[in-house]
Amino acid sequence: MRITQISAHTVSTNYRDAWQHDRRYYIKTENQANTILTVETDSGLSGIGEAAHSPGLYGETPSSTLGALNLVKPHLLGRQALNRNELLNLVDRVMPLGNLAFISALDQAFHDLAGKALNVPVVELLGGKAHQTLPTHISPPTNDSCLDYLNDFLSQGYRVFKIKMSGDTRYDLDLIGNALDAVGESVTLALDANQGWSVPQTLAIAHAIQAHPSFKDNIILEQPVRGNDFEGMAQIRRGTRLRLMADDGIRTNADLLRLIRLEAADIVSIKISRVGGIRKALAMVAMAEAANLLYIIDEINEMRVCNTAVAHLALATRAPLYTGVTCHLLLERDVVAEGGVRVINGQAVIDDQPGLGIGRLNLDTDN
Ligand SMILES: [Mg+2]
Repeated sequence: MRITQISAHTVSTNYRDAWQHDRRYYIKTENQANTILTVETDSGLSGIGEAAHSPGLYGETPSSTLGALNLVKPHLLGRQALNRNELLNLVDRVMPLGNLAFISALDQAFHDLAGKALNVPVVELLGGKAHQTLPTHISPPTNDSCLDYLNDFLSQGYRVFKIKMSGDTRYDLDLIGNALDAVGESVTLALDANQGWSVPQTLAIAHAIQAHPSFKDNIILEQPVRGNDFEGMAQIRRGTRLRLMADDGIRTNADLLRLIRLEAADIVSIKISRVGGIRKALAMVAMAEAANLLYIIDEINEMRVCNTAVAHLALATRAPLYTGVTCHLLLERDVVAEGGVRVINGQAVIDDQPGLGIGRLNLDTDN
């Protein structure tokens, strides 16, 4: 089964109204434009994957994805479509460091194709389900509406939340206190500062959180300082009881190795769109497990194709604290018309369909 064509289709859609009124300092754009890659073969089977772009964070856009595709396509056409290692090694040789969301899309498409060819879900290519379902986190859209949304999400079965910080310390501490009062100990609250704080500011905020009467060990502090400031993260970890999560700066195995050596986090967030796909994420899971570092299998700016790939990976890994497959629910339009990951009672669920289990796409966009 040889690769005959790789095509790209960019899907652009707005975030739902509530998320567009975001007044936090880490603001989502109104619009998300991701690119669906389709790898076609001479057998008639094809595989799909999604490049979930984060232009501000990592510089990838639909045009950079198209440029990257033009660069690697000549190396992939005519090759055996099931040799994922050979194909992805070739891609790594052509672009060893950049275009990780694009590489993730190719990796997803190769997995989807192999699953369809072997008539098994992608999760079975990864060794099968270690979990039937996993809790997924979800973010309230704005700080002002946070408590209302927390209660609404709790009633829908969600037990893990990510709350983005506002940049105003007094406001944030009130918000965190109210959120702590509103949820029970079985609920996990990740507080994501999106690299916005300094080390001393983080330590002061962490100490104030620990002093709150409702403080429990269910708080996770996510990426308070610059993503590449592992020394700063280590300093924060030594100075607080809050569990510390590294996120934005973990892009390669070398990043993770440095994080582990510096003992700079309690938890690492592993995102296929940020590290270059399922294959690379699996290597990071192995590294984290070897180092007794906790991990989550997370998402970033994804539509439902990529969220589905995240779910297959998460369900195959031994012990993720939780996963993140709700980005697509924040968008006005769903790129998947049939199949794919579902969220039921706050849990990520996939069907036993071949590949990613996505039957039909909705690629028509009018914006
Ligand atoms: Mg984050």
